[in-house]
Amino acid sequence: MSDVALLQGVRAALAHPQGHYIDGQAVTGNGDAFPVINPATGQTLAEVRAADGAQADAAMEAASAALAGWQAMPTLARGTLLLKLADALAAHREELAQLESLCSGKTLMLARMLEIEQSVAFLRYFAGWAGKISGETLDVSLPSFNGEKYTAFTRRQPVGVVVGIIPWNFSIMIAIWKLAAALVCGCTVVLKPSEFTPLTLLRVAELATGCGIPPGVINVVNGDGKTLGPRLIAHPHCAKVSFTGSVVTGQAVSQAAMAGGKRVTLELGGKNAALFLEDMEVDAIVNGIIEAGYLNQGQICAAAECFYLPVGKMDPVLAALRQRLEAMRIGSPLDEGTEMGPVANRPQYEKLLNLFAQARQEGSEIICGGYALDRDGYYIAPTAIRVTDPQATLMREETFGPVGTFIAYENDADALALINASPSGLAASVWTHDMAKALRYSEQLEAGMVWINMHTFLDPAVPFGGMKDSGIGREFGSAFIEDYTNLKSVMVRY
Ligand code: NAD
Repeated sequence: MSDVALLQGVRAALAHPQGHYIDGQAVTGNGDAFPVINPATGQTLAEVRAADGAQADAAMEAASAALAGWQAMPTLARGTLLLKLADALAAHREELAQLESLCSGKTLMLARMLEIEQSVAFLRYFAGWAGKISGETLDVSLPSFNGEKYTAFTRRQPVGVVVGIIPWNFSIMIAIWKLAAALVCGCTVVLKPSEFTPLTLLRVAELATGCGIPPGVINVVNGDGKTLGPRLIAHPHCAKVSFTGSVVTGQAVSQAAMAGGKRVTLELGGKNAALFLEDMEVDAIVNGIIEAGYLNQGQICAAAECFYLPVGKMDPVLAALRQRLEAMRIGSPLDEGTEMGPVANRPQYEKLLNLFAQARQEGSEIICGGYALDRDGYYIAPTAIRVTDPQATLMREETFGPVGTFIAYENDADALALINASPSGLAASVWTHDMAKALRYSEQLEAGMVWINMHTFLDPAVPFGGMKDSGIGREFGSAFIEDYTNLKSVMVRY
């Protein structure tokens, strides 16, 4: 197999320095240039000139100026524009998927399926909320002395300008979650992509303008998170921050937002567990592990990293898993036959190598992988590591890579206690044929999302978000309405 040919639009996007998208126009950055590195080669792919403070402010001003017109538009018209954007993404599926694959190392197949097709599904779902976001009428129990009557109602009003801060692992899809929820509620957005994946959202914003979404409703600014992020959050027009990323950055974002009295939603990382019960067969466990832990090189916030296996199943599962992982087709993300590409960037690559060294030092058993491939780019062999100590580093630190940590348990109540001892609680899964048991575990597992006999699947209708250190707030379902609107109460005497 070989790489697909790059489309002309992709080559054009890489050919000249990229910047930002502000008030319906592509603009060059006034700040320092930074490279976009192709993780499959380690070579510079493109250049972006960062936004300076004035450009960050200009994006916030544009979003604020666009609010009144966007809110005055009939709700169904706003929904129709989101549907048009969904169609535009679908029509530019290949171009966007290629560009994203080049920047992030995500396989082209996965970029098509998750970055584009899932984004299209989420946009259509959120478009369907247009005209359905409403308050309620309330009975009032105030006493009437002279025949006067009372009633009250609530309305949901858009919070205003939303700053969306996006990580590198799904730079289109995660941005679409925020953008679509904000826009259907009547908010406007300023999106800040990760420095590692700054290109695709510029194209999405351009497509949005082409669909008729007014200038200023969607703005994209690129640059260093540590300077640009706080600047956007502190801007007086920022009403809400919707952040997805690591726990450490999320805590800084939360403090900055709270200091300015801004609303904040945090979708953070975790150390997710998959618990396989005694009745599961070895083959089913291995399939479950691959689904839960290794998709997109493990760079999925909800992916499982710690696998709890019954003590008697551990050896046969690890033997079969090793065969499957060693047979994986690792290669260029642009080759349609590739099952696993590189990890997305150098810091991520170095972090994984350090964690492997630490695991060896702690005496953990490397079943397979645990090393970088001897080739250009940031390729890490799919890895399985057996630990015996629940306090081992790999049981606590998020790897965000193609790395499963395996620990045996004698009794599943002990495994549950260990899982719940984790400070994070984004997602967990339980695998068994005993549905009654699974449902009981779904109550007891301390995670915002619990899957039974599945893992990592997200659906726009099902709320998603973390417990404990893994976040505040929920995306999707109807839960997003709370985060993007103010609930106003109106009382009437008549
Ligand atoms: P990160 O926290 O390093 O960066 C996320 C974003 O924050 C980037 O755009 C970055 O530029 C910006 N940023 C950095 N410092 C900032 C600051 N001080 N103020 C404001 N913004 C700042 O995360 P990452 O490495 O890009 O992504 C990987 C992490 O994201 C993992 O921990 C993963 O679990 C998590 N994640 C969580 C979810 C979820 O839905 N819960 C989804 C995807 C990724």
